[in-house]
Amino acid sequence: MENKLIEFRNVSFRYTDEQPWVLKDCSFTIYENEWVAIIGHNGSGKSTIAKLMNGLIFPQKGEILIGDKIIDEQTVWEIRREVGMVFQNPDNQFVGTTVQDDVAFGMENRGFPREEMIRLIDESLSAVGMEKYRLTEPYRLSGGQKQRVAIAGVLAISPKVLILDEATSMLDPKGRLEIMETVAHIQTERDLSLITITHDLNEVTQADRVIVMNRGELWKEGTPREIFTEKASLRQIGLDVPFSSTLAEELRRYHIPIEKEPLN
Ligand code: ADP
Repeated sequence: MENKLIEFRNVSFRYTDEQPWVLKDCSFTIYENEWVAIIGHNGSGKSTIAKLMNGLIFPQKGEILIGDKIIDEQTVWEIRREVGMVFQNPDNQFVGTTVQDDVAFGMENRGFPREEMIRLIDESLSAVGMEKYRLTEPYRLSGGQKQRVAIAGVLAISPKVLILDEATSMLDPKGRLEIMETVAHIQTERDLSLITITHDLNEVTQADRVIVMNRGELWKEGTPREIFTEKASLRQIGLDVPFSSTLAEELRRYHIPIEKEPLN
């Protein structure tokens, strides 16, 4: 059995006492080195899960473990080194005047030695295919390139898990593709788990496992193939099965060979 990395144990959360619960009794586990996609319609609780994983908020009921540590006020700083997050808007994530300053920011905050920082900047920029842009000013980059730099900044501090929270939703199709190819590459090259949070089912096809959220509850978990067989019920909870998967199913039905399976 693989090692557990993140475990949600009967987690419930609400933002204030007056508001309804936005997460209700959620239990699931993320293992080391796997790619898990969390999907669900808007408001289903996905970003709340991301914030809980990073200790930005704490559950009122249940507990969340990273490795064998429960996330609480005492462990939260240690945990933030292990959980790297990239958010939706690339422009909100830049602080440096050049790409390399930006990648260095997280390391500077944590007091990394200079030589190590230089090595890690090189390493993480090449992991995302942006090594040629070290000295470029961030505002000159495309949205997809900005997100790749944001990913490099997180990789530089060697987290155990990289969480992308709707990190492609403000990008054009080319930018989206860049990010999905980049994270797929990182996932095969690096020793880390990947959690991609999205409302777009096109982005879950390559994940090892999918967690589907609906109105604050875990609706189903399984491989993309298992999830996509439930087309009608997915539609009922506001999610549409991608065209590539529907097409592949049709082709198979007529025994027409397909070169590459669209789903894990
Ligand atoms: P998703 O990421 O799936 O769109 P969220 O986790 O952002 O869902 O939101 C879940 C629910 O929590 C929604 O009803 C949303 O309005 C509410 N919510 C999110 N953030 C806050 C907040 N800071 N204060 C109060 N309610 C919030």
